[in-house]
Amino acid sequence: GSRATGAPLVYLDSAATAQKPLAVLEAGRRFETECNASAHRGLYGLAARATEAYEGCRARVAAFLGSSSPESVAITRGTTSALNLAAQGLALGPDAEILLTEMEHHSNLVPWLLAARRTGARLRHIPVLAGGTLDLEAFERLLGPKTRVVALAWVSNVLGTINPVERIAEAAHARGALVVVDAAQAVGRLPVRLAECGADLLAFSAHKCCGPMGLGFLAGARQALERIEP
Ligand code: PLP
Repeated sequence: GSRATGAPLVYLDSAATAQKPLAVLEAGRRFETECNASAHRGLYGLAARATEAYEGCRARVAAFLGSSSPESVAITRGTTSALNLAAQGLALGPDAEILLTEMEHHSNLVPWLLAARRTGARLRHIPVLAGGTLDLEAFERLLGPKTRVVALAWVSNVLGTINPVERIAEAAHARGALVVVDAAQAVGRLPVRLAECGADLLAFSAHKCCGPMGLGFLAGARQALERIEP
């Protein structure tokens, strides 16, 4: 119940951050009390268990995204951290254009603003039509030989719009651009298939899917992940 009023609490803000089921809290407690050691950094039994749990997590996330390769998942602190990793680590320069949309969360705007400032790359924005969908004709016009990255939210946290990621990616790929998808509002709500959705890189936060705060991933094919200089 609510501490303030004593009335039963109804929580409706799960799209921002979800409450954690007891099974999730219990799994975290079990890891901390039974498996915690330095993953990939110890040769003793407990460290092996930590490594197994860590790799098991990557494999499960990969499977959830329809991928059989744990290497397609890099664990991060969440969506913002995953998008920062991509924006800071991709090779960009003064000739490059980064194409965003006008409906981006700050998570998928500020990292690119900073990358543009640092590298001299130019930011461009796909406009949003009155009905809350992307202006795809404008997108086709904005997409050019200089477009190096197209970065967009799959589902808008403000409008609820589901963007046609697959279609956008097809056009972007035809121009040789890399497609970065903010899937903070998509994973767990839409069936997300990494190999089929068109995203080269896909960012997500566990806390939007009943998981812990401060945990998430950047997923993608190995070739795409390897384009990021850590
Ligand atoms: N992108 C979108 C579309 C979101 O809705 C959110 C969170 O509300 C984020 C990014 C940021 O997620 P986080 O704070 O977990 O990094």
